[in-house]
Amino acid sequence: MGRPDPKVWDAMLSHLRQHHSSMCRHWFEDIEPQDLSGVTLRLLVRELVQLKYLQRSCAQIFGEAAQAATGRLVGVQFIGEDDIGDDGRPLTPIVKQEAALPSNGLGTTRRDLGALATDDDMLISPDYSFDTFVIGPGNRLAHAAAVAVAAKPGKAYNPFFIHGGVGLGKTHLLQAVCQATMRLHQGIRIHYVSCNAFMTQFIDAVQAGVMNDFRSRFRHVDVLVVDDIHDLSRRDRTQEEFFHTFNALFQSGKQIVLSSDAPPAEIPLLEERLVSRFNCGLVAEMEKPCFETRVEIIKRKSALRNLLVPDEVANYVAARIDTNIRELEGAINKIQSLADLAKTPIDLDLAKQAVGERLSIAGSAPTIQMILEVISAYYDVRLTELLSKRRSKSIAHPRQVGMWLARKYTRYSLEEIGGYFGGRDHTTVMHAIKQIELKRHNDVAIDREITRIEELLTNDEAPGTSAGSGAALVMTIPTVIPAPIAMAG
Ligand code: ADP
Ligand code: MG
Repeated sequence: MGRPDPKVWDAMLSHLRQHHSSMCRHWFEDIEPQDLSGVTLRLLVRELVQLKYLQRSCAQIFGEAAQAATGRLVGVQFIGEDDIGDDGRPLTPIVKQEAALPSNGLGTTRRDLGALATDDDMLISPDYSFDTFVIGPGNRLAHAAAVAVAAKPGKAYNPFFIHGGVGLGKTHLLQAVCQATMRLHQGIRIHYVSCNAFMTQFIDAVQAGVMNDFRSRFRHVDVLVVDDIHDLSRRDRTQEEFFHTFNALFQSGKQIVLSSDAPPAEIPLLEERLVSRFNCGLVAEMEKPCFETRVEIIKRKSALRNLLVPDEVANYVAARIDTNIRELEGAINKIQSLADLAKTPIDLDLAKQAVGERLSIAGSAPTIQMILEVISAYYDVRLTELLSKRRSKSIAHPRQVGMWLARKYTRYSLEEIGGYFGGRDHTTVMHAIKQIELKRHNDVAIDREITRIEELLTNDEAPGTSAGSGAALVMTIPTVIPAPIAMAG
């Protein structure tokens, strides 16, 4: 077992920058290569949130980089501080099998996020911290309150309820609260979950007859953070359970943090008693960012990726994209990949190419590619997951919505749509369409959700919303959509 040659690590970083530039973060440079023995390279990551993130999302690309740098099959294992002894040597012996499975990436590190429990699908992103959050007139109050909540959980504002439109930074702020709280209060127990995950776990617990487990999971915490609480709309039994969860925590002085796309009183069919509970702490709105804030966000996001973006480019993009921030990020992605492709520095011409192209899409009929991109951005699922065989609800629903939209907006046959959605047959597409029709009919929240996606797709302003924002299609993923997979027979 020996320290890896520093040249190997440098070569890995440059491989990552070259081949996975959009995944690269400036803090990758803080990772400390520990030892390279046989087929495993161990990388020490001192920040827990970064460690978890790397284990979940980056093992494969680091494995690739290690292989490129060494010219042999090397698996990467990310380890935390708990995995090294006082002498700085790793405690746990390398398990051969892990090295053979570089794409698993979970490793055997004994240290977990500890105090922070999250639902599987709700990974805390190291990108979503207070440091990277840009403060502007539209979010100043929400930000200040979030900082206060993290400093004094249960004492500053309880509950703390933030609301605002899609892509305005609610999830970012919630995760920043989790990360700062964890850092400031040793041993504090935080549970961060989406409302949908709360609901699913509740239903599962009822069916399995393990409500005690469920209750102890959600009630024995110091801070409960629930994202997208508007999804409680119409869910009578879940509302009832959440009401009791809320009371149990609130009465014992525990902090509750919630986000929603609407203020409490405007969440459709939310019980009055929940509305009044949600209103009894601080309700803060997040509004669209102004020009200066948008410019600063572009700069901050670019810095996070070690990207050099000249002022004129930041100004140009901020002037053209004035809706949600996810779109700004999409533009940065696109500019970055164009620069990578052309192997040139980022300049105004590239920005015009990237953003100009976006605008030309507005007004034209949606294509399958646009549908996939909008779905992927809206539900925050990866394109590869949409096209994969995975059937978990968090993927299956967006995929079904995508098929339904493809049927409505394109001229493709059921077979062709199935082909574009990862080689599914026409009966699956038919089933998806029926499911979505049914859900829209039975569920106001889903109906609203799909209407919103259609607005994004067709660039129509919703009736009653503020006048034309000039929003073009959300283009967050500069990915080439694979050709449809033909179905046999
Ligand atoms: P929401 O949950 O409101 O739909 P997100 O929190 O997912 O929105 O934000 C969408 C993207 O915009 C994220 O990448 C987030 O980091 C970024 N973002 C939003 N607001 C800000 C801000 N004030 N500063 C920096 N990034 C922001
Ligand atoms: Mg969100």
